[in-house]
Amino acid sequence: MRFLNLSDPSDSASFEQAVRRGLGRGQGLYFPETIPVVTELDALLDLPFAERSALLLAELTGLDVAVIRPIVTAAFDFPLEQVAVDDRVNALELFHGPSLAFKDFGARFMAGCLSAFSDGSPTTILTATSGDTGAAVAHAFHNKPGVEAVILYPKGRITPLQEKLFCTLGGNIRTVAIEADFDTCQAMVKQAFDDETLRVQLGLNSANSINVARLLAQVCYYFESVARLQGREPVFCVPSGNFGNVTAGLVARAMGLPMKRMLAATNVNDTVPRYLADGQWAPRDTVATLSNAMDISRPNNFPRVEALAQRAGVPIAEFLDSVAVSDTDTTDAIVALKAKGYLADPHSALAWWALDASLADGEIGVFACTAHPAKFAEVILDATGEDVPLPPELAAVKDKTVLSATIPGDFSRLRELLLD
Ligand SMILES: *Cc1c(COP(=O)(O)O)cnc(C)c1O
Repeated sequence: MRFLNLSDPSDSASFEQAVRRGLGRGQGLYFPETIPVVTELDALLDLPFAERSALLLAELTGLDVAVIRPIVTAAFDFPLEQVAVDDRVNALELFHGPSLAFKDFGARFMAGCLSAFSDGSPTTILTATSGDTGAAVAHAFHNKPGVEAVILYPKGRITPLQEKLFCTLGGNIRTVAIEADFDTCQAMVKQAFDDETLRVQLGLNSANSINVARLLAQVCYYFESVARLQGREPVFCVPSGNFGNVTAGLVARAMGLPMKRMLAATNVNDTVPRYLADGQWAPRDTVATLSNAMDISRPNNFPRVEALAQRAGVPIAEFLDSVAVSDTDTTDAIVALKAKGYLADPHSALAWWALDASLADGEIGVFACTAHPAKFAEVILDATGEDVPLPPELAAVKDKTVLSATIPGDFSRLRELLLD
């Protein structure tokens, strides 16, 4: 399988090269040249999750299944649950990994690939996080020999528990609080990749959803969700910020996974819903919301969504549905779900709200639950008056000291820090 740079057709790579480079020339995103269509879907759906995932990823990457299988088995070593919330809606719980968010799937698969492909030269993983990527990446790379991870996050815009989960590890994990929003953090990472000195001297790599390994890993759980619905075709709703998760779902559909529609729910940072409605790509300033991991107004993965739509020959507005949900409705969703006996974090609750409004009679739906509710215990306490018990992963870090440096949102300061 070749991976094409979507902004520069003259730049292509093998999977291994694409994973090691992260971003292509001119900050372009790598994407498979073609999406393989699965044969024998029913037999595939009958397989256990890890084995099916190894087969899917072998198809998508072009690697031998014998190479992929051990990476997948080690990366996806935590449970995945799908829970019926009522008679038409199911919660696909993706947050049972070590950092309690769906990003463990992609980060752990990517870390496994980089270890497998390593030639022993030092690597610096530079990544920006709006809250959950940082923890997933930090845990995936902590104590991996030959790798240093540098993680940027918007100071004061992630929850204290999110911060504790990745800023207290130390060792080969450096965390940097940036006095700016997430879009600035993301722009600083991209700028670092354009800096030849940094790139070469540090062996820069990115673990953001711009890295195609993360994206492809996420395709696998859409197949698992449909497998558990025993042949019923769902409407999927995915809470979306950088649009990596929803892109993975669209790749699954392009591979032949049956689904009725794909719905991307955003918070009021609604660049995509407005774009699908009026055709104007017009990002506004990013606004802080309860679903902070989605406080993004320039979603990185959107060129990949456009590429899929173009290949399918379908206008983008018919290819994907997208709606924005306010903080008020998100709070109402948390309360409404609790009344059904289901505790959801704000991102997942927001997706349920959009899904519930979109389902027609007779349709069934699945919403992606992207974070453990305890990561957003403060929001849930405010919304419902209920204290969420801390799972062991959070109880272990809640009293530890945050080790982050703080710098302004200025690339020259990041450069100094990286070369230090
Ligand atoms: C990252 C994240 C999202 C958004 O996922 P994208 O792939 O960036 O669209 C949603 N919910 C949670 C909890 C997240 O951490």
